Amino acid sequence: MAFEGLSERLQSVMRKLRGKGKVTEADLKEAMREVRLALLEADVNFKVVKSFIDRVKERAIGQEVLKSLTPGQQVIKVVNEELTALMGGEQSKLVQSANPPTKIMMVGLQGAGKTTTSGKLVRYLQKQNRRALLVAADVYRPAAIRQLEILGADLNTPVFSLGDKEDPVVIAQRGVAKAKEENLDYVIIDTAGRLHVDQEMMDELKRIREQVEPDEILLVVDAMTGQDAVNVAETFHSELGLTGVVLTKLDGDTRGGAALSVKAVTQCPIKFVGLGEKTDALEPFYPDRMASRILGMGDVLTLIEKAQAAVDAEKAKELERKMRTLSFTFDDFLDQLQQVRKMGPLEDMLAMLPGAGQIKGLKNLQVDEKQLSRVEAIIRSMTPQEKENPEIINASRRKRIANGSGTTVQDVNRLLKQFNDMKKMMKQFSQMSKGGKRKKRGF
Ligand code: GDP
Repeated sequence: MAFEGLSERLQSVMRKLRGKGKVTEADLKEAMREVRLALLEADVNFKVVKSFIDRVKERAIGQEVLKSLTPGQQVIKVVNEELTALMGGEQSKLVQSANPPTKIMMVGLQGAGKTTTSGKLVRYLQKQNRRALLVAADVYRPAAIRQLEILGADLNTPVFSLGDKEDPVVIAQRGVAKAKEENLDYVIIDTAGRLHVDQEMMDELKRIREQVEPDEILLVVDAMTGQDAVNVAETFHSELGLTGVVLTKLDGDTRGGAALSVKAVTQCPIKFVGLGEKTDALEPFYPDRMASRILGMGDVLTLIEKAQAAVDAEKAKELERKMRTLSFTFDDFLDQLQQVRKMGPLEDMLAMLPGAGQIKGLKNLQVDEKQLSRVEAIIRSMTPQEKENPEIINASRRKRIANGSGTTVQDVNRLLKQFNDMKKMMKQFSQMSKGGKRKKRGF
């Protein structure tokens, strides 16, 4: 998980402060020393660290924080606000041109994740009912065009290519014209990267920029390269004038230095973060939510959004009816399980809960996805009658289900018991709500 070390250390400093009824200037100094070390260890740019600490100190002392009734809490509030400001304050949204198609030019070094991110953006836009054209303007990396075509096919999205012999500037121009012709909302131009920043690449990118006049120039950088990513961003920004940064591979970046320094060093906002290889592993970047996550205050908003995206509103209504009328079956249970799994790995979701860092053992908890698969297998091995009326599942049926699902009779028993308990709970709820209604009606 991203920011693991930093998060743990900052939370431990904050816990110490929170526990104090009175915070002295010496306590604050000591806490800031630890925060400073934690940030440096997370590979945050040292100038950024210095000005961050100075600001927090100044505010903590200046605002009479130390004399307030809850000094510890106040310091945490200041740290949270300053972390948010450091990462850009407000969320910086993807531009949408009044004159479609909105033109997005993707730039970055080879291997940063440019092509993958182009596909992820298409997916992100599709979720908002916007259609895009992908343009293959990387004519140097042998497999780049093919990779984009495969992505496009997976995403059911057109890909514009003129092979690898044409000038990338011409490809980009004609791609934009094509998107216009087809009345598409966005055109995403995947340009060529190099292993290192080089002038030839920059010149080509500038020529594309001049001809295409993109609405967005997004730099894709690999978070795992830490301060190198920040330096790359600085160079690209001064040469091209970026509109935003996409930080990829944050899933593998345990330190988080790039995420915390990019905005402060380059003044260029992070617009998205990549959290995996799949096309839906892209999240808009919210500095405030990220700060809360780092400080262990949770990110309930993202959690809710994920739930809303995964849960089908019609199904939810139907489920509520079934719960009320106690006609909830194992089929519904399976449905629920699948909806929850659509939200992403359970570990990531747990990490978004407030105080997750303090729950003992959570860090080492590998949420057992296998256990969920086992539950699915058990339910799938039931006959339709058994799913409707689990009461008929006697000893021999249990044995058959266990064999059929590659599990044990104990596993089957456990699931049946859980299901029974859940039903009992629903019964209580439904009786409670009936009671409530009666009262309202004056019974
Ligand atoms: P490009 O040369 O910049 O176009 O890079 P690619 O899009 O081909 O990506 C290089 C590698 O990084 C591929 O193996 C991707 O699957 C992987 N990758 C891209 N983004 C992410 C991410 O957010 N997380 C992880 N774990 N891998 C990523």
